[in-house]
Amino acid sequence: GNKRRITILGSTGSIGVNTLDVVNQLGGRDAFEVAAITGNSNIALLAEQAKACGAELAVTADEKHYPALKDALVGTGIEVAAGAAALIEAGARPSDWVMAAIVGTAGLAPTLAAASRGADIGLANKECLVSAGELFVKAVAEGGGRLIPVDSEHSAIFQSLEDDQHHAVERIVLTASGGPFRTWTREQMAGVTADIARAHPNWSMGLKISIGSASMFNKALEMVEAKHLFNVRPEQIEVIVHPQSVIHSMVGYSDGSVLAQLGCPDMRTAIGYALTYPDRPTLNVERLDFAKLARLDFEAPDEVRFPALRLARMALERGGVQAAVMNAAEEISFHAFCAGRIGFLDMADIVERVMEEMTSHGSATTMDQVFAADAEARRRAGDLIARNELAA
Ligand code: NDP
Ligand code: MG
Repeated sequence: GNKRRITILGSTGSIGVNTLDVVNQLGGRDAFEVAAITGNSNIALLAEQAKACGAELAVTADEKHYPALKDALVGTGIEVAAGAAALIEAGARPSDWVMAAIVGTAGLAPTLAAASRGADIGLANKECLVSAGELFVKAVAEGGGRLIPVDSEHSAIFQSLEDDQHHAVERIVLTASGGPFRTWTREQMAGVTADIARAHPNWSMGLKISIGSASMFNKALEMVEAKHLFNVRPEQIEVIVHPQSVIHSMVGYSDGSVLAQLGCPDMRTAIGYALTYPDRPTLNVERLDFAKLARLDFEAPDEVRFPALRLARMALERGGVQAAVMNAAEEISFHAFCAGRIGFLDMADIVERVMEEMTSHGSATTMDQVFAADAEARRRAGDLIARNELAA
């Protein structure tokens, strides 16, 4: 039939659940055929989603969950698979559109598989672009599909970019909520736990991005993401703190005009746009009430309290694999912070030290070189964390 075939990588996460909600709002099984969905540990939800959307294939990233997934889907006719190779197969299975919403670098290989076969990619996972940069963009171009950002800032920029006016773009202005510690001192931040850090003022999101919003590493990743998506120079990327998260980001042009996209903080708008682009879908999401909002505030970001922004700028200026190194060291530091092994402020210290240790690593020209730099940064971050514990 003429149903749209779609794949959702990371269907059990915050973005994945919102994607299935949008799919249902836009006609569900009458309008879409689901080639594959993937999850990791939430097997009950994965099985429930597979049955509800009629997925052909359900994959868990973790092989130890295979029996549970198999049991949950027995007799349904839904194919079941597990492990890293199966994730890549889910990405490679023919479909028109793929939501890339696996968290972390684990999302890279399956998203590359989808990009290489020419699927349109709704890109939520930012680690793909941060760590593989030009190589990821090249894989999409060679595959022939479209890359449509889902990250709210990048969706806003994508929506504010006028066709054929890219030469007139002066700057990209990424808005940042400032997170839960926007007004805190470094002394106050030093002692926080992951439970405190994960409470985001405006958005409800997965754990990694919530912690990344508190440390502003999320914005750091987004700066690199913006460079690759919009092909701008580092000095054209600005960050402005905007606590209400109503303006999702802006584009400044050579005539002094600034175009912005606004909306309630709800990822379904960006997901819907990526799914139906270049059309706009009709979505049941909250509408902005400007009178009630009354005001929009802005503040310059503080790179002393939030060193992640300075590190991103450093990665952009140095180029090569520095962004991949920043991303990998950040992921390891994030896990160590959540496990209570290091403090909140140690995350940026460890990332900076690993970046400094690896300045002599040049550019990656193959994915293997990206994976090698990623692995070395992880190992070095792990060593620093272990030494930190010994010293404590
Ligand atoms: P969640 O943590 O909510 O979900 C992550 C998804 O990835 C889940 O399906 C999870 O499975 C799966 N997963 C976890 N670990 C692995 C692994 N090792 N291998 C394969 N799959 C795995 O994250 P979010 O939905 O918040 O974010 C997803 C991505 O989108 C991130 O890159 C994030 O930065 C980006 N993003 C998110 C936004 C948001 O509002 N949430 C906004 C903009 C970007 P399970 O749950 O079954 O364990
Ligand atoms: Mg974002």
